[in-house]
Amino acid sequence: MSFKKSVDVVIVGSGIAGCTLTWQWILKGKSVVMISDIDKGSSAVAAGVYNPTILKRFTSVWKSREQLEVLNSFYPLVEQTVGVSFLHPINILRRFHDDKEIKTWLKKSHKEDLKDFMSPDIVDLEMVGIDAPSNFGLVKETGWLDTLGFMNASLNYLKSRSSLLTESFDFDQLSHQEDHICYKDIRADKIIFAEGFKMRSNPYFSDLPLQGNKGEVLTIKVPGLKLDHIIKSSVFLMPYIDDLFWVGATYSRDDFTDNSTEVAKEFLTSRLERFLSLPYEVVDHKHGIRPTTLDRRPFIGSHKDYNNYYVFNGMGSRAVLITPWAAQNLFDSIYYDTDINEEMNVNRCYK
Ligand SMILES: Cc1cc2nc3c(=O)[nH]c(=O)nc-3n(C[C@H](O)[C@H](O)[C@H](O)COP(=O)(O)OP(=O)(O)OC[C@H]3O[C@@H](n4cnc5c(N)ncnc54)[C@H](O)[C@@H]3O)c2cc1C
Repeated sequence: MSFKKSVDVVIVGSGIAGCTLTWQWILKGKSVVMISDIDKGSSAVAAGVYNPTILKRFTSVWKSREQLEVLNSFYPLVEQTVGVSFLHPINILRRFHDDKEIKTWLKKSHKEDLKDFMSPDIVDLEMVGIDAPSNFGLVKETGWLDTLGFMNASLNYLKSRSSLLTESFDFDQLSHQEDHICYKDIRADKIIFAEGFKMRSNPYFSDLPLQGNKGEVLTIKVPGLKLDHIIKSSVFLMPYIDDLFWVGATYSRDDFTDNSTEVAKEFLTSRLERFLSLPYEVVDHKHGIRPTTLDRRPFIGSHKDYNNYYVFNGMGSRAVLITPWAAQNLFDSIYYDTDINEEMNVNRCYK
């Protein structure tokens, strides 16, 4: 068979995971074809917040320091390459509910793994429209990624180089050879599936125990509200553009219906009104399914029988933070023969 295109890697999926992988390969001088149906996956819904701490329990995120280091060099490099900016560093203010929380915060902020991120000073900041009688704790090294901006810029880049196939992947056209794969008239050394929740229909990886967690977010318009921080109470309130703000998110493990619900809207607005005292209007309401795993670690690595088929999935609720680091880890394992981090190596599912 004569191939029209011969590349280093085919990547299936154009969410945060697929786009990040693509850049990991391109920035290292490798050639890529991306295949995606461009349906709105979970990444099109995400507020894009990155945060190295878990603000419910005041604990740190797994490998947060390593992940932040890669995040802080990776996204700016992509921004420079495409000439579009999408990373927005901005601190989070954790709104305290009572004195007990403040006490816990002060204790935790001295812990080795948290002291870089949780400021020990309690923040007493007057903001018109925000009620916070118990004040705030400041979280550092946080921000948000404009996920749509990142994905659009990535797709445009690929399109302009004829490296994007817009279609639903046809598994009947895929074949595995000893040292490469073939898909239609494309030959590649490897194929990586970054399909998000749709992985459950992938014949090679559908047996992995991918869970799902449906989330809903609102976009609201609040004339007169000026925020220089993301506010985290029982929901997030994040400044977006002009007088638009994101409010999120909900978590549901048992409702995978493809619609936004009144129950979620009611949950989000009732929590919001506990601290937002200005009038607002809901202008958008979105939903998506986070690809989650039981042990909260991604699935990264090759298929147990087909060594040139890879999976890159399970980014959970922290895709923006974990994905660049995980993509780098996968790349290094393929080209420099390093180990994939044991906790996220998909081979744990085959044991
Ligand atoms: C409400 C909500 C809020 C969230 N907020 C945040 C947040 O603030 N910060 C954060 O880091 N994370 C957040 N997340 C989580 C984050 O969105 C996900 O972890 C992430 O989007 C997963 O990305 P992905 O690329 O793996 O999957 P997806 O975004 O689902 O992308 C997969 C893409 O591949 C396509 N595709 C799949 N299979 C095929 C196939 N066979 N053929 C062709 N195309 C295919 C899909 O149609 C889709 O376009 C949030 C999620 C939700 C639902």
